[in-house]
Amino acid sequence: MKLRRLKTTDGGFDAALEALTRYEAAQDDEVEATVRAIIADVRKRGDAAVLEYTRKFDRIPAQSMLELEVPRAQLEAALAALPAAQREALQTAAARVRAFHERQRVQSWEFTDAEGTRLGQRVTPLAKVGVYVPGGKAAYPSTVLMNVIPAQVAGVGEIVMVSPNAEPMVLAAAALAGADRVIAIGGAQAVAALAYGTGTVPRVDKIVGPGNAYVAAAKRQVFGQVGIDMIAGPSEILVIGDGAAPAEWVAMDLFAQAEHDEMAQSILLSPSTAYLDAVEAAIARLLPTLARRAVVEASLGARGALILTRSLEEACALADRIAPEHLELSVADPDALLPKVRHAGAVFLGRWSSEAVGDYCAGPNHVLPTAGTARFSSPLGVYDFQKRTSVIGVSQAGAGTLGRLAASLAEGEGLQAHARSAEIRGQSPISGEQEQGNRALTPISPDKIIRPEILALKAYHVADSDGMVKLDAMENPYPLPAPMRRELGEHLARVDLNRYPDPTGRKLRELLARKMRVPAGMEILLGNGSDDLIQIVTFACARPGAAMMFPSPTFVMYGMNATLSGMRALRYELRADYTLDRDAFVARVRAEQPALIFVAWPNNPTGMLYPEADVIAVLRAAQGLVVLDEAYHVFAQKSFMPRLAEFPNLVVMRTVSKLGLAGIRLGYLAGRPEWIGEFNKVRQAYNVNVLTQAAAEFVLERLEVLEEQAGKIRAERAVLGKALAALRGVTVFPSAANFFLVRVPDADRTYEALKRQGVLVRNLNSPGLENCLRITVGTPDEDRILLTAMREAP
Ligand code: PMP
Repeated sequence: MKLRRLKTTDGGFDAALEALTRYEAAQDDEVEATVRAIIADVRKRGDAAVLEYTRKFDRIPAQSMLELEVPRAQLEAALAALPAAQREALQTAAARVRAFHERQRVQSWEFTDAEGTRLGQRVTPLAKVGVYVPGGKAAYPSTVLMNVIPAQVAGVGEIVMVSPNAEPMVLAAAALAGADRVIAIGGAQAVAALAYGTGTVPRVDKIVGPGNAYVAAAKRQVFGQVGIDMIAGPSEILVIGDGAAPAEWVAMDLFAQAEHDEMAQSILLSPSTAYLDAVEAAIARLLPTLARRAVVEASLGARGALILTRSLEEACALADRIAPEHLELSVADPDALLPKVRHAGAVFLGRWSSEAVGDYCAGPNHVLPTAGTARFSSPLGVYDFQKRTSVIGVSQAGAGTLGRLAASLAEGEGLQAHARSAEIRGQSPISGEQEQGNRALTPISPDKIIRPEILALKAYHVADSDGMVKLDAMENPYPLPAPMRRELGEHLARVDLNRYPDPTGRKLRELLARKMRVPAGMEILLGNGSDDLIQIVTFACARPGAAMMFPSPTFVMYGMNATLSGMRALRYELRADYTLDRDAFVARVRAEQPALIFVAWPNNPTGMLYPEADVIAVLRAAQGLVVLDEAYHVFAQKSFMPRLAEFPNLVVMRTVSKLGLAGIRLGYLAGRPEWIGEFNKVRQAYNVNVLTQAAAEFVLERLEVLEEQAGKIRAERAVLGKALAALRGVTVFPSAANFFLVRVPDADRTYEALKRQGVLVRNLNSPGLENCLRITVGTPDEDRILLTAMREAP
């Protein structure tokens, strides 16, 4: 096979290039007419027509539309049945695609002009979207990820995927990407059903995804009734090479495009004849080794070319003229060329960036503008699944000035009612005095002042516990012994309340380091409870766009502080039994590389202590900071504190709350001075008050008292765990902390019944924690009252 050679210095080069790159989608009249008839029929007869065409064209012998709905369980089963390596690859690709697209979300905005008129743009997701995925051999799981994930990230209410005869890998990808429904239909009938709705197929607002000539024709014809993404032409690659990459690599990149179909286009531009020769020789050598040789040969023969340019700059100018779908800058200094090209769907920088990696798993979308449309359109993205609504709130003053302005423009256009409508509000019947009065009375709404993400938050809820058996907050149920309390009273009486506290709590930090065996060389930061420390660390790490990751469900303060600091919260869902899928979590850590990871160890509210090896795997995979929250370490009797020096990205967070000092609010964070020094800058001066410092010092000197109480709690935990598990209908999750997560048949009822009997536990019933209560281990007496109340609860 001889590949076409062109030179930009040749006379007639422009015409030759134009002929080479011209592509007009053939619109076959017969296809158009067939599709028109199918759409009309589906509009008229709905499901019956869809079923009939599906039986005929896709040879699916279904008796009813119901049979064509692929149940969620089948999608999950397809995912579970994949060989582990394939499943992990798909999971990692999905996580990378999601991480990329999460950065594309566009926020609503609003501003107020000088007269108090509010103007803004509200960005909202589309309500329903249809994703077309071709069936059978032409089906690619990557298509599913690239189309479904951006829709999901945008917050689309319902994503309906249609795909006839889908392969298991496609179903698995649908489960992973988060399609809400999958229906085994295809062709023009599926597009028509999505556009107009039938009894079983919902009418959607936009249809995306590739398809054959019939699907493309159907999308064109229903456009207007629904939105569509684009009508894609054949795939294209343009490589600009200066010899930075071995000729074989570039040859393979050209093949990768050409193997799609006979109309695909692969072009190489280079200012070096020797390099063009080398690539041509590599093509000749490697072509016979290809499985899809015939397609590659046909495509390269019809639409491929090696083009000699005068310079790399001229190659960029040509690339801009062609506006290719994929542009590889396979050169030593790609950043020097990047500013010179504007028109390309995706640009691959340098010799290490293969277009194939972009197709599957780099993260950016592989649905790109083709056939020169990159001049005016962009890759598929989250923004394609969002729409914008303008918001106009004219103030009274604005009604006068803008009304007069609009009226004069409307009069110029001869639209009298427009003019009057605009003016009438400006001629206010409200007197100056009334206006003054009104203004004074109009309350300023926090909605306009407070950040929207804070308006959307719910305050941390603490139930009223007066006179109750208090098993809701993981407190130590034992008070300090009376003599020790008296002595403490005297100790605190000597504290100078008129003086500010020691700013860094030096004495207390030294005592903690000694009593809690903080390794030498590590430093400690004190917090007003560990809640304070979570806020300090999050605030310090919240670079724009940075992410915080944590297994979920977990302590709610992590996510809440992500919101407060503007960090992206990446929740990794634990398994149904609240264990951690280590490999999947580590893969997600690798893919997302969050700045900050919180691991509660043991976890609240599940009580689970992940194996130490899991924590180590996370520490090794993470390139960001890992905060190991050991709030319950005295009950788990395990700690990474002695191993701090081994892991440069680890800090260990603790609290004295669960130990028996919840009232004094004291947390501590131990880690390398490099970390602690930075966090110390964020800490409020004097965040730990004098009474807390004095009380903590006093009690820490007598730590054995609290340790003995912790021992009693651990023993009682074993007793309570058994007793709870013996109750009918109660599932108890194993706990290494001083509480149990239990699942009951109806958590809301049990919670209320316990409350009526004077026992306060924590009701966690919510998605992911369905019918779950969290019960703190109390004294043996308290636990007996609890168990009696549980037995009597309905
Ligand atoms: N981390 C975890 C895992 C917790 O469960 C809690 C309290 N429930 C805290 C931190 C906060 O503890 P404090 O602010 O009382 O120190």
